Amino acid sequence: MSDVSPIKRVLVANRGEIALRIIRACHEEALEAVAVYSEPDRLAPHVRAADVAVPIGPAPAPQSYLSIPKLIGAARATGCQAVHPGYGFLSERAEFAQAVGDAGLIFVGPPPEAIRALGDKTEARRRMQAAGVPIVPGTMRPVADHVQARAEAVRLRLPVLLKAAAGGGGKGMRLVREEGELASALEAAQSEALKAFGAGEVYVEKYLEHQRHVEIQVLADSFGRVVALGERECSIQRRHQKLIEEAPSVAVTPALRRRMSDAAAAAASAVGYRSAGTIEFLLGPTGEFCFLEMNTRLQVEHPVTELVYGVDIVREQLRVAAGQPLRVHAGTLQPRGHAIECRITAEDPFHDFLPAAGTIAYLRPPAGPGIRWDGGIEAGNEVTLFYDPLIAKLIAWGETRAVALQRMQRALRELVIVGIPSSQAFHLRVMDDPDFQRGEIDIAYLERAGARLLSEEIRSELARPLAVVAALLAEECRTGAAPPPQPSTPWLPDRQSLWVHAARREALRE
Ligand code: ADP
Repeated sequence: MSDVSPIKRVLVANRGEIALRIIRACHEEALEAVAVYSEPDRLAPHVRAADVAVPIGPAPAPQSYLSIPKLIGAARATGCQAVHPGYGFLSERAEFAQAVGDAGLIFVGPPPEAIRALGDKTEARRRMQAAGVPIVPGTMRPVADHVQARAEAVRLRLPVLLKAAAGGGGKGMRLVREEGELASALEAAQSEALKAFGAGEVYVEKYLEHQRHVEIQVLADSFGRVVALGERECSIQRRHQKLIEEAPSVAVTPALRRRMSDAAAAAASAVGYRSAGTIEFLLGPTGEFCFLEMNTRLQVEHPVTELVYGVDIVREQLRVAAGQPLRVHAGTLQPRGHAIECRITAEDPFHDFLPAAGTIAYLRPPAGPGIRWDGGIEAGNEVTLFYDPLIAKLIAWGETRAVALQRMQRALRELVIVGIPSSQAFHLRVMDDPDFQRGEIDIAYLERAGARLLSEEIRSELARPLAVVAALLAEECRTGAAPPPQPSTPWLPDRQSLWVHAARREALRE
């Protein structure tokens, strides 16, 4: 950052891996970073990595990471000039961006008006349609009641998707295949939306089959320049939540990339966008695409784009917030190689992804060529049910998709997490799956492949070495070589990891 920059110190209003990621970007820009933390996070890596750390209250997010007065108070007390919201928590709340500005601080993100316009999905649809961006067929305003919803569903032809106008995270969304299900699905979607967002409005969209989720990353500065950084393929989802992302998409040709990028840039310009944002599209089998929504923040999956375009998105966000022009130029951007990201979460894939809580007894992240580990938790840290179950993002880059895939397989086998179940074994099963390897995926992939990937047979095969590893670790603990494992099952994907571990133990003995 230049000497004349108005930003010297940034409050990072988040936790976990994304807080650490932002702190790293601040330091690379020669800025100081201030962390905030709730009580259970006092030993978290982001707290130590920051230049200053401020306690902001107990575990429940409304009393800590979602408390606007506490965050602004922390920024003021520590002399920050800017606030980076990360993703989740307050990142897409226009009133937070507004409050930060009203306090005389710089919000590292888009203007509150853009967040407001795009936060309401029906308003976003109207804006996109006006800007000439193709949208999913459906209603342009929320439906008044089930009579209107039924009339719209008939007009659009079933199946349809009922969606909360204020929606996010797959909440307030219901798939309706039969007319008879409509009234109860509408009621369920409305009450879920009211609970989650304080607004129960629901609209109707045609449910499109055989679609891929493909999104375009954009960066925009205060000089009216909007740059599209290509696409990310995010079709590996469970209950409309992304689990694996990659860049580029095997389904996107250079010509299609240009068309989607132009639509994304038009979408961003239409709302006076600034900073990093993502325009999500559904991409059909014949290359037609429609706007789903725009996320007005940094995305979880931004690293795959960073690796193939050689751009640090968070550093660009900081520059834009400081009133500087983007460093990237649309004309020179070409994707190089391929990147895949696996979200390693504290969830048990063999128990319907049941979220797990507990202490991480032992953690060995993978490393080596082409591997990036964006984590925010380490051995001794506690995983609580108060927050998102993300432990880390494991990202692999290779010259080709096949090389990236091999590296991801190798890295997943190197990873050791003991103390709580994780999604590690699930990711390994997907990487080993011939359909995934051929790129034959769409948003229904997991519905189709789930049973094959996560059968009881696979589970017992994976479980066998675990008991042996638990014994090995217990012995290491006795000799002081490792922290004590928790009584819950340690989680390892296969025999190769066991072998790696046994070799390590032999080395320790010598
Ligand atoms: P949210 O904001 O709650 O995440 P999105 O509108 O982004 O909701 O949709 C989440 C996911 O749901 C998409 O990635 C896609 O898999 C699926 N989806 C959404 N709309 C449709 C649709 N009209 N047809 C088919 N699938 C859809």
